[in-house]
Amino acid sequence: MYDYLIIGAGSAGCCVAHFLHQEGKSVAIVDREGIAGGASGAAGAFLSPLPGKKNLYNSLVNDALNFSIDFYKNLLPNIVEKKGVLRIPNNNFNKDKLAQSYIKYSYYDTQKLKNISKNFMDIDGYFYENAAVIEPTEISKKLIENCDFYKKDIKKLDFKDGIYNIDEIKAKNIILAQGVSTSLVEIPYMKISPIFGLRIDVKTTTKIPFNIHKSISVSTNKQDGTVSIGATHERHDNAILECLTTCDKCPFYVNSEQGQIETLLKQAQELIKLEDLKVVKIYKGARATIKSYFPVIGKVIDYEKSLEKYPSIKNGTKIPPDSLEYFENLYIINALGSRGFVFGPYLAKILTQNILHNTPIPKEISTQKLFYKTARAKAN
Ligand SMILES: Cc1cc2nc3c(=O)[nH]c(=O)nc-3n(C[C@H](O)[C@H](O)[C@H](O)COP(=O)(O)OP(=O)(O)OC[C@H]3O[C@@H](n4cnc5c(N)ncnc54)[C@H](O)[C@@H]3O)c2cc1C
Repeated sequence: MYDYLIIGAGSAGCCVAHFLHQEGKSVAIVDREGIAGGASGAAGAFLSPLPGKKNLYNSLVNDALNFSIDFYKNLLPNIVEKKGVLRIPNNNFNKDKLAQSYIKYSYYDTQKLKNISKNFMDIDGYFYENAAVIEPTEISKKLIENCDFYKKDIKKLDFKDGIYNIDEIKAKNIILAQGVSTSLVEIPYMKISPIFGLRIDVKTTTKIPFNIHKSISVSTNKQDGTVSIGATHERHDNAILECLTTCDKCPFYVNSEQGQIETLLKQAQELIKLEDLKVVKIYKGARATIKSYFPVIGKVIDYEKSLEKYPSIKNGTKIPPDSLEYFENLYIINALGSRGFVFGPYLAKILTQNILHNTPIPKEISTQKLFYKTARAKAN
């Protein structure tokens, strides 16, 4: 009998497992693909600030970044390459937006970049010191080294007499950390969109002094001698493409993988000339995002039962969160978007503190915020 069973051994699930274990809880974690077998194993995994004028979302990202870089450095110092990131203006972040950033930066013009490395193309950009790249699978394994791991595909949740019985594993509480996979309970207020992407690890004789980010990311040279190039762009309606199996069987990649590889490599070469380039490994994955871009953590609300009990919520009546109906002993952490390794430790810490010590979850990342929004939107 475990105190907690976590479904999904990606960044989200492994981080929660780690913090629960640190608080003395017995923890098991399951994943049908193995540890970091979903989006997490495919991630770059770049840890970068989000520039721009200060707002709720970039404050959350940048607070999480500060916390997570320190956290990883304490956990596994050898796998954190903290050399900063050069951000090149693009359609989303033009020069004005980057120049007005509340995050401290240094502007590097083309000549300065060419003085650093003759391989830089004719680009200029904004340099942020507090950025790193890590090795996602090693981190995930380290996070759960003291927890029991089971490779299992969980089909349903059975809850009886205060205990979850999941394929002979018994647990008092469940944490759903399923990424893009179909949720094991109905959560109509949380519509996850998978966004597909690719990471290519290459070998090159070019020395890359720091990470470079435009619409794709190119890492500095990592300790294993590789450079990661990655991007996630392709949004799909999950009614059309459901993530049920490994990416190798996914029609999306089968039809477009080669084209995506060529595009990524071409985009990387437009930033820095990569000499003696050899592709070593290709990773595929889909990350989970919701419309607001904010991640979501907390107790799982039973949507139907809550609205049955308080139909006037649909018309805007304010019902205190504690009065809503919840699935018993069931929590979620999901929608980490393109920043799963930035958010993972930070959100897992907040969620763990909430579960064990009842500390509040910031409203913008709570399940309640999404619930009220959806209930009211559906009524209008
Ligand atoms: C190509 C690519 C590049 C990326 N680059 C970066 C980056 O540079 N920096 C960054 O911070 N983030 C990056 N991301 C995003 C990041 O990978 C995700 O945000 C993060 O991995 C999400 O973690 P997760 O634990 O929520 O989901 P996942 O890692 O997808 O984990 C969910 C797991 O749940 C398992 N699962 C689901 N349902 C069940 C079930 N019923 N039974 C058993 N197991 C189940 C799945 O097998 C899966 O392993 C990238 C993503 C991709 C795809």
